[in-house]
Amino acid sequence: MFLNSRTKPKELKFYEALNRRCRLSQEEERKLAVLRKGYEGEREYDSVFDEAGHENLLIYRDVWMKIEDATLQIDALIITENSLIVNEIKNYSGFYSFDNDGWMIRDVQISADPLAQASRTGNKLLKLRYLLQQNFSRQFKVIFVNPEFNLEAAPGYDRNIIKRSTLRHYMKNLNKMYAGPQAYEMSEQIKEFFIDDPMILPEIDINRIRLGNYCFNCGSFSLEMRKFYAVCRACGSKETLEKMFVRGLMDYSFIFWNEPMTSSKIGTFLMDSLKPRTIRRMMNTYCHKSGDSRSTSYKIKNTELEKLLLDNNYTSKYETDIRFKKVKL
Ligand SMILES: [Zn+2]
Repeated sequence: MFLNSRTKPKELKFYEALNRRCRLSQEEERKLAVLRKGYEGEREYDSVFDEAGHENLLIYRDVWMKIEDATLQIDALIITENSLIVNEIKNYSGFYSFDNDGWMIRDVQISADPLAQASRTGNKLLKLRYLLQQNFSRQFKVIFVNPEFNLEAAPGYDRNIIKRSTLRHYMKNLNKMYAGPQAYEMSEQIKEFFIDDPMILPEIDINRIRLGNYCFNCGSFSLEMRKFYAVCRACGSKETLEKMFVRGLMDYSFIFWNEPMTSSKIGTFLMDSLKPRTIRRMMNTYCHKSGDSRSTSYKIKNTELEKLLLDNNYTSKYETDIRFKKVKL
């Protein structure tokens, strides 16, 4: 069973928010495309696992860990009664070959070596044997989820590689393993080593950013503001001001991820589309507050829009999305 949900990585949220509010450089566009493809691959992996079944396993998805001096990121960490299994998920497509000299795509050497990466991660987990006082074996596999991935590997080299054609079979076999008391205990102990995504992202000059609000449906910044909702002049979509404001808060948090968020900065960011009093009220609802009254800074309570709204009892009679619609009693 999955022990946590898989959410978009911080870096992907950053580039997506940036893409909504400015023209990306070629390098940024490339980065965004790679991150999107990677995340799609991970979602695909999850859905194949759902079909194959995973009720006998304990699985953490996309976790960052710090074990002594080592920082590691694991796409899927599978815990059974006496083993830890690392799955490194790759959404590569095209023709690859792999031998002693490393990985090549159409005869061009590539710098990333997914097998070495997965093996290093697996080895770092071995330190947990003495830190947790648990005995377990560790395995690692690189999972190529894309059916368009072709690999030519010298015999024996593909031992730790699972291709899409055998993925379901691999997962079904995993699910024949067993997670008993030791596995549950380890899954709790391992949590102690989890850390927040430590990725350092680029700093963005605010002059590059388009300020104000945009349509959730088509991205147009041309909106007609009414008292409680806005109407998109381009596509006619309607959205409540509250939900639009929360999206703005999220964009700010993703793009300026290392700057304290204040109500006046948000006011500027959204071109003062709401009254300062309304902004503060909404920030109190959707953010955690820190600092004193002269320098209050805010941090959004959750980085998933739907969860952030639902957890904070957002409803509106102007809402078109059924999940948030206020029902008349
Ligand atoms: Zn629109």
